[in-house]
Amino acid sequence: MSTKTHKIGILPGEGIGPEVVDATLMVLDAIQKVEPVRLEYLKGEAGAYCIEKYGTNLPKQTLEMLKKTEACLKGPMTTPEEPGSPRSVAVTLRSIFDLYANVRPSRTLPNVASLKPGIDMIIVRENTEGLYAGKEFEAAPGVGIAMRIITKAASERVAKFALELAANRRNRLTYVHKGNILKITDGIFKQAVLDMSRAYPDIQLEDLHIDIATAQLIKRPESFDIVVTTNLFGDILSDEAAQVVGGLGVAAGANIGDHYGMFEPVHGSAPKYTGQNKVNPIATIEAVKMMLEYLGEKKAADRVGKATVRVLEEGKVLTYDLGGTSKTSDMGKAIAEKVTQMASTSARQIAAPAD
Ligand code: NAD
Repeated sequence: MSTKTHKIGILPGEGIGPEVVDATLMVLDAIQKVEPVRLEYLKGEAGAYCIEKYGTNLPKQTLEMLKKTEACLKGPMTTPEEPGSPRSVAVTLRSIFDLYANVRPSRTLPNVASLKPGIDMIIVRENTEGLYAGKEFEAAPGVGIAMRIITKAASERVAKFALELAANRRNRLTYVHKGNILKITDGIFKQAVLDMSRAYPDIQLEDLHIDIATAQLIKRPESFDIVVTTNLFGDILSDEAAQVVGGLGVAAGANIGDHYGMFEPVHGSAPKYTGQNKVNPIATIEAVKMMLEYLGEKKAADRVGKATVRVLEEGKVLTYDLGGTSKTSDMGKAIAEKVTQMASTSARQIAAPAD
């Protein structure tokens, strides 16, 4: 068995962050016992709680540590909202590492209430510009202006990313915009998708305005495969998609660039549940599944995904959001044990040749 050690950054974050990350580490520890994958964890501090101690939510030493890693798991963090307060850690890291594609899958899972069966879509959100560029100012007292920056270059690279994903799945791409109102900015985005799609003649394209897209996501969620859109529209649409398949407790996101990947649950720090060992860690476990795929550890990623589905199918361990009473740590432990158990079952099947 050849093993490669991957250095990964772990930012537990705050609020429910440390609890969901601890549960996820149980699963990562388990997978390393049954697959030839080794992970070296480099833990760092980041989040609003750092501001008092370091004057920033992303301390310099954390950033230096992350630069030594291939990828990181970012737990949820609280983002201060006062004008002049630091930008969200996620937004800062996306910009520093140029993580231009935000990939958010939503699929129907067993024992998770879903609006319809058979949903399996991925929303790809442009991750570096749009209204998230955070360029806003008060032009005169009471007159705020935010700049929505959309470039051809950023739109083309995220369009290409989404088209590649579509080519490896069901050859369907929906591009979402508001080009009838934002004729210049969304005109650039739309044209970029159309230009890039010429290299993918087999991909069936669908053009949707953001307003009707939010409605169609409820009406016919099973019909979507890959959806590509700009930053803020993607943020809103992916939370909607998460709710369609059972809520934030199971929704994960990957932030991918050409040289780095950051993986996170879609949800935030849910302060009201802090310290209760109550919330669902599956969103974070799904995030590390995507991280293993990104690291080229496909077999390990598949094992984590299958173990999660199996635990949900059995329905014995379910957190409050799935209608159960199990703890965060119970879910982490159940999925970790299933990873181990499924590996020994398949080893026994290989050892016992068929008649
Ligand atoms: P939130 O996602 O933290 O929580 C909203 C609600 O969703 C919770 O009250 C809970 O009912 C449910 N929920 C969230 N995670 C869950 C889980 N794992 N299991 C079960 N239920 C879960 O959103 P919020 O309350 O609007 O934001 C709290 C803080 O988090 C804010 O400061 C916000 O800016 C920040 N935030 C951070 C990120 C991030 O770090 N990427 C993302 C979203 C929000």
